[in-house]
Amino acid sequence: LRQGLGKTRLNLINQLKALVGRGPIDQDAIEEIEMVLLQADVGIDATERIIQALQKRMREEVLPPEEAVKYLKQQMRQMLTIGDPTFAPQRDRLNVWLIVGVNGAGKTTTIGKIAHVAQGSGYKCLIAAADTFRAAAVEQLKVWGERAGVEVIANPGQNTDPAAVVFDAVMAAQARGTELLLVDTAGRLQNKKNLMEELAKIRRIIDKKAPEATVEALLVLDATQGQNGLRQAQVFAEAAKLSGVILTKLDSTAKGGIALAITQQMHLPIRFIGAGEGLEDLRPFSSYEFVEALLS
Ligand code: GDP
Repeated sequence: LRQGLGKTRLNLINQLKALVGRGPIDQDAIEEIEMVLLQADVGIDATERIIQALQKRMREEVLPPEEAVKYLKQQMRQMLTIGDPTFAPQRDRLNVWLIVGVNGAGKTTTIGKIAHVAQGSGYKCLIAAADTFRAAAVEQLKVWGERAGVEVIANPGQNTDPAAVVFDAVMAAQARGTELLLVDTAGRLQNKKNLMEELAKIRRIIDKKAPEATVEALLVLDATQGQNGLRQAQVFAEAAKLSGVILTKLDSTAKGGIALAITQQMHLPIRFIGAGEGLEDLRPFSSYEFVEALLS
């Protein structure tokens, strides 16, 4: 998994290097850097923070270009590092990971990828199909479960109660000594109230039936949606006690700067990144690797 960002193409910020490589950084260069950051979806807040830090640093001493790049990298790494950078399910106990996010963001695919990696690392895994509203989603999840060799708990029929599926899955997980239970959830933003109630109910069931479990609520965000995706994310932040973010489709965008906007605006760690549609296209997030990919 630690083979770099592979298919990810985040080289838009190559421009940054070219810019600072031109010579001493003046006000014009700073403005251009600002533009480049905004174009890469870094967002206004994070961009301002980076620019202000750079300006402050430059008031202290004249920076040669390579030093300026080094400083930018260091700033970005710092902004991208939230919480403990090593993230994995705890062994020999139940971990429940709620996977939330708007439809189409990549929840189902990501669950398949995580199940595959976790299974390969020797974790006992189980998947719960709690997006009962979309029959196709349940079928799709079963296909991914098969690929990963992980069983999917689902209720027959459409419109069954998602909380009932989660209840069944938690009982099954406890009976089998499952270490990682991945829960797929609905992502219908059209009905915000229902969505929030549904996620809250699922959370209550888990907290009540499995108080021993370590629970993570991971938001799946489509990197190609940029700032718009971040606005949608706000709804999920209100509905679920989010503990982290999974950023998908980084292979389909050159605007990887959205990662900085996420950590700046949501104050949540990015846990994994998705860079392709296949089972193998998931990597643990590393701020070091990410910044190297942004600025190399
Ligand atoms: P869900 O509705 O949130 O469950 O989203 P899906 O998992 O069904 O994914 C929606 C679409 O995005 C599918 O066509 C996936 O193949 C695609 N997808 C998911 N993750 C990635 C990724 O990392 N890269 C690319 N290129 N496509 C992805």
